[in-house]
Amino acid sequence: MSIVKIKDKTFKTFIPESEIQQRVKAVAEKLNRDMDGKNPLFLAVLNGSFVFAADLMRYITIPSEISFVKLASYQGTASTGEVKEVFGVTEELHGRHVVIVEDIVDTGLTMKRMLETLGTREPASLHICSLLVKPDKLQVSLDIEYAAMEIPNDFIVGYGLDYDQQGRNLRDIYRIIE
Ligand code: 5GP
Repeated sequence: MSIVKIKDKTFKTFIPESEIQQRVKAVAEKLNRDMDGKNPLFLAVLNGSFVFAADLMRYITIPSEISFVKLASYQGTASTGEVKEVFGVTEELHGRHVVIVEDIVDTGLTMKRMLETLGTREPASLHICSLLVKPDKLQVSLDIEYAAMEIPNDFIVGYGLDYDQQGRNLRDIYRIIE
């Protein structure tokens, strides 16, 4: 168990790198089975999913593509409830099998917004792949087909996720100590 301090907050190890890798690999294997022959387009949501997306893609063994989109709706340790626009989608989504790659689904409002926005571009199918899900915080109903891990409501950092833009480089996932 290790402790890290980021700015004014203290965090302790929650999910070690080895377990993260096992879970990411398991999700990738499910995608390899389900998406075989569909040339899926992975749309990874920056910034938080960049580490997850990089590991996930390297466990994907079927022909596929990846691109990155951006939105931001979160500051500090509490969701502002504000959801911003999706931008950076330059690919033609019409007729494509699209998999949204997110770091974490918390209230689900961000993901719902993404589904609505991307849905207007008429993909053949639209799927959710999230490294983490906080099931007790979900405010909307979402079909999260590819979730690597479910976690309790604590605020977490590491493996791409930040606290006030820091901590994304941590190899393990850490939870906040209140
Ligand atoms: P939602 O719209 O589902 O409430 O929020 C989703 C976004 O909030 C995530 O993409 C992520 O950026 C941020 N978020 C939610 N929970 C956490 C958390 O525990 N840690 C960090 N670092 N970000 C979080």
